Amino acid sequence: MQDYIKEILIEIGEDPKREGLIKTPSRVENALKFLTSGYKSNLNEVVNGALFEVKYDEMIISKDIDIFSLCEHHILPFFGKCHVAYIPENKIIGLSKIPRIVEIFSRRLQVQERLTTQIATSLDEILKPKGVGVVIEAQHLCMIMRGVQKINTVITTSSLLGCFKDNLNTRAEFINLIKGKG
Ligand SMILES: [Zn+2]
Repeated sequence: MQDYIKEILIEIGEDPKREGLIKTPSRVENALKFLTSGYKSNLNEVVNGALFEVKYDEMIISKDIDIFSLCEHHILPFFGKCHVAYIPENKIIGLSKIPRIVEIFSRRLQVQERLTTQIATSLDEILKPKGVGVVIEAQHLCMIMRGVQKINTVITTSSLLGCFKDNLNTRAEFINLIKGKG
């Protein structure tokens, strides 16, 4: 990969031999491998049996999970907050696993819409819950740094499954919990 990165440096008018850039190809390679490590992560390995049988049928919500991803159109970062909620049927998942699942799909080349859907669908498959809701609020550097340059534009996407889709009260409870501070 480093040879290609050197080529890109030349193409943009840089000198890959100047001091500040000598190690750049290897740094970029390492950064890209980390930021796309989700391709090598396996959902079942991450969940690793952290599922528990519990009689609980209220909403469980993980709010304000940091997400960092790369837009597949420009390979520039988009980043923001992800909110995940579900109502269990009879299985719950260890709370630390939800941010890990978010990472599996955010550390790839993505569009925000697909990222949102993949997180919701995965939880739906793993937990078979009564419903799942995922909302992502993110800013895209490809919008902020170039093109329209609208600094404060936040893109919001949502994926609602099961009772989050069918039941207006559930949906309203979810939205209120996300909006509430703290
Ligand atoms: Zn983009």
